[in-house]
Amino acid sequence: MKPSPGDTIKIATTEATFEGILLQRPALFEPGFIVLKLDNGYNIGIEEKKIKKIETIKQYEMPIIKRKEFKHNPKLPTVAILSTGGTISSRIDYKTGGVIADYTADDFIQMCPELAEVANMKAKKVMGIMSEDLLPEDWKKMAEFIAEELNNKDIAGVVVTHGTDTMHYTAAALHFFLKNINKPVIITGSQRSIDRGSTDAFMNLICSVTAAARFDGAVVATCLHGSTNDDYCILNRGGRVRKMHTARRDAFQSIDELPLAKVFPGGSIEVINTAYKKRADVKVEVEGAFEKKIAIIEVFPGMDPGVINFYLDKGFKGIILNATALGHVPTVFPEYSLMDALQYAREKKVPVIVSSQTINGRVHPFVYTNLRKLSIERDCIFVEDMLPEVAYVKLGWVLAKTQDTKKVKELMLTNYIGEITERSDPRAYPFDHGIAKKH
Ligand code: ASP
Repeated sequence: MKPSPGDTIKIATTEATFEGILLQRPALFEPGFIVLKLDNGYNIGIEEKKIKKIETIKQYEMPIIKRKEFKHNPKLPTVAILSTGGTISSRIDYKTGGVIADYTADDFIQMCPELAEVANMKAKKVMGIMSEDLLPEDWKKMAEFIAEELNNKDIAGVVVTHGTDTMHYTAAALHFFLKNINKPVIITGSQRSIDRGSTDAFMNLICSVTAAARFDGAVVATCLHGSTNDDYCILNRGGRVRKMHTARRDAFQSIDELPLAKVFPGGSIEVINTAYKKRADVKVEVEGAFEKKIAIIEVFPGMDPGVINFYLDKGFKGIILNATALGHVPTVFPEYSLMDALQYAREKKVPVIVSSQTINGRVHPFVYTNLRKLSIERDCIFVEDMLPEVAYVKLGWVLAKTQDTKKVKELMLTNYIGEITERSDPRAYPFDHGIAKKH
């Protein structure tokens, strides 16, 4: 029988044998090839004329989630789990061969019944998209859903399931948007989709629900694997966290500070960094207005300063200059110097924020003469060790409140959510030598 898309098949070619799931040939794909999804998640195209034999190993079965009824357990706290999309929500779409964000918060509870041992669950689907497609408007929508749950006395904390690619932007945005945050808001996701044996989704979900139910902080934090093993997750403060690897399970790292805590799938929480606000009985409000006309401009050797003028002429309201190390930009050779473009920004009263592309460490407005030129002669705002993406999110939030340049500077340098550290913690660097060595 001819295999159909979705079937697991084995193909012997003149060169090798491959086993995987047969995909519908995407419309854009060259004819004369068939496409297989291998177990490692990659898709390969096999030339039909090289095929010697095709064997169907398993016919495709539509995954059926048998719905279970979970009784409310009065001894357990209740956690709201809000789904927004990403790989954690994904399943393969046999029509395109790609993955679509389709599973909802309710499906997670059905697929991971252990969650019911940690807390009672209240599930809601907020949206279902990959995080690279999210917009600042979506952060506001999420914040509104979250605030409603945080203001409900019966809810101990909130878990948001989310794509990992821009999770660090959302974590920062929610932290700024949720004024008077009173309970933990835990954002989680996964690097491998939930329908794969090697998925990191279940442990991330269990640890996140644990943190939402029991962590004593009123913070927005990410909660994903803390190592490449399935031993614990880490809580990283929204505003100081970054996705630092394309594929590793422990991709999320706190920068210039230690993570807030380790969360073990068995239910215990080990606090590492005590500098966080505690739970409080206050009413949460949403301040989600955002100015989107902001450009993040990378500084690099040979860059054309005209790029800055381009944005200014287009009416952009703010610029994040992702400068080299301490905050340097070219200033010496007239053709490449940014000084004229920065003067133009100053005349147009467009704030220019200087952050560092080294990620770790802080920018400094005075150490070198050219830094002084930027900070004193061009009024550029040096934002200490604020991460470039966080500077973007914060500037959008600040510009929606005021466009007065003095006020913008004052607010950009006010520490709202721990986005600026007083002193970069040396124990938090280097970040990729295994979390176990850090603390
Ligand atoms: N591109 C996906 C997303 O950010 C990746 C993931 O979820 O891990 O939505």
